[in-house]
Amino acid sequence: MNESLQKLKEILATSKKTVIVTHPNPDGDAFGSTLAWKLFLEKMGTYACIVSPTNYTKNFKWLPAYDSILSFEDESQRAIAEKHIAAAEVIYCLDFNAITRLDKLSPAIQQAKAIKVMIDHHQSPEDFAAITFSDTNYAATCELIYDIICGLGEEAKIDEAIAQNLYTGLTTDTGFFAFSNTTANVHKVAGGLLNKGVSPEYIQDKVFNIFREERLRYYGYCFLNKLHVCHEGKVAYMSVNREEAKRFHLQPGDNESLVNFPFKVEGVMVSVLFTEEQDKVKISFRSKGKIDVNAFARKHFEGGGHVNAAGGKSLLSLADTETKFLQEVKTLFA
Ligand code: 5GP
Ligand code: MN
Repeated sequence: MNESLQKLKEILATSKKTVIVTHPNPDGDAFGSTLAWKLFLEKMGTYACIVSPTNYTKNFKWLPAYDSILSFEDESQRAIAEKHIAAAEVIYCLDFNAITRLDKLSPAIQQAKAIKVMIDHHQSPEDFAAITFSDTNYAATCELIYDIICGLGEEAKIDEAIAQNLYTGLTTDTGFFAFSNTTANVHKVAGGLLNKGVSPEYIQDKVFNIFREERLRYYGYCFLNKLHVCHEGKVAYMSVNREEAKRFHLQPGDNESLVNFPFKVEGVMVSVLFTEEQDKVKISFRSKGKIDVNAFARKHFEGGGHVNAAGGKSLLSLADTETKFLQEVKTLFA
């Protein structure tokens, strides 16, 4: 980390135009880390433009600087993003570790002349960046960003807006300090952020209590009609098709957190959500303890992530994807 910090320090001292990119369908940690890093860079005298590969949820619209994020999926915003990417001296890659993860944004980032810096906490990082901060001991990219800012000797630049962003990623990626990735350092960083004025009550209210009534009724519909529990009660899964997404007027991000609920059933060790999208089935995997859904998603569903939280995709139909999953699921318990 020290050598990378030194190189980063040099880059920070000279670069004026930068771009920050993150993974498709950004989650709390992707939003929190990119927004915090942008606000920090600006305090260091560097302009930063955040680009999301896809359109993104409004669930985090309360985060400081949220409105500045460009979507590469939106035609008019893409043109602006392309200009920023072409002009950038540095491209910061946050909360992902392989260029292919960027989908339609991949070629633009691959071809860009800018120096690339990766800051991430997922398994199996690829070697594409000039500077890599990659450590799976970190529960969240936001936690790593906090340690990097402090490592640079710039802790004083963390203000309440930066702290709110970092606290959001820290809490969403640890399930509010409940998942197995919650370490002493996570709590230490949380303490540091509280000292910067973060209100835990405010963040938790904004993260959890922003459903539209229809979204809550949709969750109820899923529990009543779509939840399957199998494999002697150890595996739970739900599938949502496009007709249902239309019927309940689902917005980007509405399925976020749905996959966590089946753990309410005692004995469930693996929970999976299949969502039918325009061109593929998106899959979310969650597990408990040593059950490694990252390896499973990587092997069978072109995905990856963390041991207990991973994602993937399938080009089969929803029904065939479920069948394939049910054929392979026993290997999770081998
Ligand atoms: P989610 O289920 O919330 O979409 O993703 C869970 C975790 O797995 C997140 O850390 C996310 O970045 C990662 N992830 C989701 N989809 C993919 C994928 O297709 N490939 C890889 N490598 N990681 C993914
Ligand atoms: Mn993350």
